[in-house]
Amino acid sequence: MGLKIKNYTQGFKIVSLALDENTKKDLICDNLDFIFINDKSLFLFPEDVNLEIDYELIQELSVRSNYDIYEIWPDGRLFLRFDTTSIDNYFFITGKCNSNCIMCPSPECSRKYGEDIELEKLITFAKHIPSDTSHLTITGGEPFLSGEPIFDFVSLLRDKFPRTEFLFLTNGRIFSIDKYAKLLRKSLPSNSIIAIPIHGSDAEIHDSITQTKGSFEQTVLGIKRLLRYGIRIEVRIVISKMNCTDLDKLSNFIIREMPQIEYISVIAMEMTGNAYKNKERLWISYKEAFSFASEAIKKLISYGIDVKLYNFPLCTVDPSFWMICEKSISPNKVRFGEVCEICDYKKVCGGVFAGTINMEKDELKAII
Ligand code: SF4
Repeated sequence: MGLKIKNYTQGFKIVSLALDENTKKDLICDNLDFIFINDKSLFLFPEDVNLEIDYELIQELSVRSNYDIYEIWPDGRLFLRFDTTSIDNYFFITGKCNSNCIMCPSPECSRKYGEDIELEKLITFAKHIPSDTSHLTITGGEPFLSGEPIFDFVSLLRDKFPRTEFLFLTNGRIFSIDKYAKLLRKSLPSNSIIAIPIHGSDAEIHDSITQTKGSFEQTVLGIKRLLRYGIRIEVRIVISKMNCTDLDKLSNFIIREMPQIEYISVIAMEMTGNAYKNKERLWISYKEAFSFASEAIKKLISYGIDVKLYNFPLCTVDPSFWMICEKSISPNKVRFGEVCEICDYKKVCGGVFAGTINMEKDELKAII
């Protein structure tokens, strides 16, 4: 069950958590709203209101970390939005997207009618995040859909987090317009990667996957503009039945057209949202996906382009590729099968998405 403050009447708030006097002093100095646990009571600052003496809630919050960030909703529910101990923290800018990828893990309704997060709320959230945070991801939907205002927010991130590593997830189409590529160059934190998917070696394949005519041309032009401005690019390839036989041509395209990219991520699907709805047209097993990808990966590496494998359990990948396998699934989404309990490699394996485990549990084989 979620966390809730009974009889809460203070309205919506974004608050940091303070578990000791030093953190409390620090948050007061920074002029931030926060909740503070003291003597088995929960106080809201700066109002200094005693909110709650519910023992279970106090217990739950006491084992969290200083500087974690929560949203408190008007009905008193608490949602963790920033976990100080995690390297998976993110800003969700909007649920909307100008593409409609057939294998998107979000449902179509979220991309058409999804929530836009107010800029003010994003700024408040950013003010609460400690400036020595190691990694932040900017995601959506399509985070740059709102156009110019989002670049002011990116500038704010650049100024507040000079040492943080940023990952921006975008379909890259907006950067086919030079004005936006220039705005990004101007506002981008120095330690940033822009991750952009290419789904096929030509418009026919790519646009059939994004279900958006003209998206291939815009994405490729966007990547080339950003590269010209010295911006670091990760190209993402999500493997499905619709592009698995195109991977050799796609690797040739990347080697020929954009060899300066930082690296390529070859990604197994997350079977939720649109992906689950279209699973008959999309799904191939991990082993099939890997066997289609392996020659293309070898070729890319031989041309000096780094490759990472995301979302593949180790037992579905040839051991000679394990060194490029990343533990890429967020802790709240990762699942393991029964067979994993006896596997010697469970600790270093990235496991399987919660949305995929039931489809593929027979494919997993313990490595002993
Ligand atoms: S059996 Fe489970 S833990 Fe072992 S490699 Fe496969 S998925 Fe990973």
